[in-house]
Amino acid sequence: MHRWHRLTAAAVLGLALAGAALAQGAAGPDPDRVWVKFKPGSKAQVQQALQRAGGRVHLEFDNLGAVAASVPAAALDGIRRNPNVEYVEADVLRHPMAEVTPYGINMVQAPQVWSTGTGGVKVCVIDSGIRQNHQDFNGITLSGEASSGQTWSTDTCGHGTHVAGTIAARANGAGVVGVAHGSLSLHIVKVFDGASCGWSYSSTLVAAAQACQTAGAKVINMSLGGSNSSSTESNAFAKLYNEGVLSIAAAGNGGNTQLSYPASYGSVVSVAAVDSNKALASFSQRNSQVELAAPGVGVLSTVPFVTATATVGTTSYIVSALDGTAQTAGSGGLVDGARCTTAGSGSFSGKVVLCERGDIAFGDKVKNAFSGGAVGVIIYNNVPGGFSGTLGTGAPNIPAVSMSQEDGQAVKSTGLDSLASLSTVPGAGDGYAYYDGTSMATPHVAGVAALVWSANPAWTNVQIRNALASTAEDLGAAGRDSSFGYGLVRAKAALDSLQGGGGGGTGSVTAKVGTLTLTTTKKGSNQTTKADVTIVNKDTNTGLGGVTVTGCFTISTENCATGTASASGQITFSTTYKTGTAKFCVKNVTGTNVTSFDPTGACKP
Ligand code: CA
Repeated sequence: MHRWHRLTAAAVLGLALAGAALAQGAAGPDPDRVWVKFKPGSKAQVQQALQRAGGRVHLEFDNLGAVAASVPAAALDGIRRNPNVEYVEADVLRHPMAEVTPYGINMVQAPQVWSTGTGGVKVCVIDSGIRQNHQDFNGITLSGEASSGQTWSTDTCGHGTHVAGTIAARANGAGVVGVAHGSLSLHIVKVFDGASCGWSYSSTLVAAAQACQTAGAKVINMSLGGSNSSSTESNAFAKLYNEGVLSIAAAGNGGNTQLSYPASYGSVVSVAAVDSNKALASFSQRNSQVELAAPGVGVLSTVPFVTATATVGTTSYIVSALDGTAQTAGSGGLVDGARCTTAGSGSFSGKVVLCERGDIAFGDKVKNAFSGGAVGVIIYNNVPGGFSGTLGTGAPNIPAVSMSQEDGQAVKSTGLDSLASLSTVPGAGDGYAYYDGTSMATPHVAGVAALVWSANPAWTNVQIRNALASTAEDLGAAGRDSSFGYGLVRAKAALDSLQGGGGGGTGSVTAKVGTLTLTTTKKGSNQTTKADVTIVNKDTNTGLGGVTVTGCFTISTENCATGTASASGQITFSTTYKTGTAKFCVKNVTGTNVTSFDPTGACKP
């Protein structure tokens, strides 16, 4: 009986290892290392001078007329004054930028709250287990349990490790970062295993959720569901909610209006998926129970296996095996193939070819490169972020991987001619992959809940839930709707509302032109409810022309018919000012009304 399922819409798109520890040698950087630019034809003389000064040449760049060398500090002035030397400058350090912040982490305002949490909130992930020894969970307090015969600390499916990474991946300079890293501990309850990655029973789920509670979890993440409800299951989640647990589940990937469970029980928060443009994912189910939306398209996170790796020079990059590629390895100097619409006229022979996405099919790019002699192909995106792609049939016997636009542009500017090594041979390892699904949206909400809650563990699950709902960024139809619920979850806004005290009150502001008075009126008893804001021009001397802006906003966030929301928790009202546009910036954090008016358009709260 297939009661409910993991809710990942798209298949694994490929994975790869992020280069964590790059070999830098045991010693630290050499403070005496410099660039020495020599005058044309003077290389030999400069090298002799360096030698006499006790220096050591590391690299020679005849095409730049320069060498990189270590020169004792005491000898540096002498080298500088050498008539054959044009200049000496520091050989400054460059660092691998190996850690990626997936777009969803910023979209839910997690970094703005990272410094706030005091820890102590336990999040329970009911899924397929976790690759416990993945580098991105190193140092996190992990516990878990599994049905008999299973092991919670391994994950043959990948789903559970991906979900856990979105919640908790460490900021350790490698791989990715999660929403609430550092502010939580994780309890893993494994209900999917290698034999049945796709389903389990509602009774198994109830047992798992109760195990989460027993383990002390305040938040339960369920990136799973099914279309049939169960009264026993419903009662179980209502009981957990009454006892202080906040359960969060995926709305479903059917792309229809059906209810999915457990998400659609009143005691569970149902999460829809949006993409990096905050547009609803086509697969996200729409119904009256949808409560919040979160990033769920092209979500990069941890997985327990590696299907592709790419190293250029000494830096490893997150890449994905293109669907249909040969499972093999290849290495050679990296060459730019532009969009690889041709076979490269001989320049591809023995090389790894970098191709930009666009113009022709992925498979044709790879075939072109192969016919020109390429030993491997990297296709990088022509829009921000990574992507999945398929080569179709008849792919040649060389590795072909996809790469984000950011990484592709980086290797194009710094990695050409470096040795590039690709592998599309799959295996277990510390992998990363882009997944789609309301499964991927759910842990963003669970992570935000944990992050906000960690600021004050005395808050109740009801307070946390209300704060997430009342401060969500309204998307789609005004107010709550069946596609986005209350809207995009936002950590900073939610925390501000919980910490901020009451809204409303009266503030005043001195503007560059005239004086404005801000008056807010609190509505309802909940301190996070919306307030009407009226900004009235009280200036009588200048030509503002009676500017009156009326809108509604949520404390510390914004939601206004005429305003434009910004991620920083400010509201921008636009109104006509003489011949231009004036902007009113209103901010309400910790009960303080702050606003400013600047006819040049700059917001200076
Ligand atoms: Ca990391």
